[in-house]
Amino acid sequence: MESAPAVIVAIDGPSGTGKSSTSKAVAAQLGLSYLDTGAQYRAITWWMVTNGIDVDDPSEIAAVAGKPDIVSGTDPAGPTITVDGVDVAGPIRTQEVTAKVSAVSAVPEVRARITELQRSIAAAAEKGIVVEGRDIGTTVLPDADLKIFLTASPEARAARRSGELKNADVHATREALIKRDAADSNRKTSPLAKADDAVEVDTTDLTLPQVIECVVTLVEEKRAAK
Ligand code: C5P
Repeated sequence: MESAPAVIVAIDGPSGTGKSSTSKAVAAQLGLSYLDTGAQYRAITWWMVTNGIDVDDPSEIAAVAGKPDIVSGTDPAGPTITVDGVDVAGPIRTQEVTAKVSAVSAVPEVRARITELQRSIAAAAEKGIVVEGRDIGTTVLPDADLKIFLTASPEARAARRSGELKNADVHATREALIKRDAADSNRKTSPLAKADDAVEVDTTDLTLPQVIECVVTLVEEKRAAK
């Protein structure tokens, strides 16, 4: 039997839309690799914070953007992320990193570095890959076979995020989400945006299994047409 052709899937959207859970599940179900690009921006931010870099100074960030060695493991059943050989899967999810990641990821030298890394990972994925982020369909992989843009109301997104973070206050989570979205959408270099040819899926009233099924069907249609 001939193996299915490699398929590249870009899934973009703001946080709390179910992007990570959907992307991982779709990749696992279809035997594809998986890349969480937000984790890479969080990893470089963690390195900046750990090394005493002033994240409010873009020139200081730009000067050291090439230093950390970031490695992503792309198995959807257990994605990994290391910086200079250190497992940072836990530390990149702290509130401090979350609060600082938009400032670091807005620096063009950081984006150039991470974008290059993302393209090389996608090119090496023999069976294909699901790449999730903010600018994958617009900038990183503009020739992706399928582009999905996930949305959801701010209320639904805040409720999901507070459910993930134990004891979080929904109101404060909503405010922090809105602030991060605004920073990510308004930056000059490859902001969060829907590609013209992306399929928009509003997940507000959908369950996670419904979103996964919808995306799996779209990928299978693309594969069949290749
Ligand atoms: O997806 P996650 O919430 O972990 O992303 C963390 C941050 O990384 C985003 O708020 C954004 O600043 C940055 N990011 C980005 N481009 C991507 C993915 C994430 O700028 N492709």
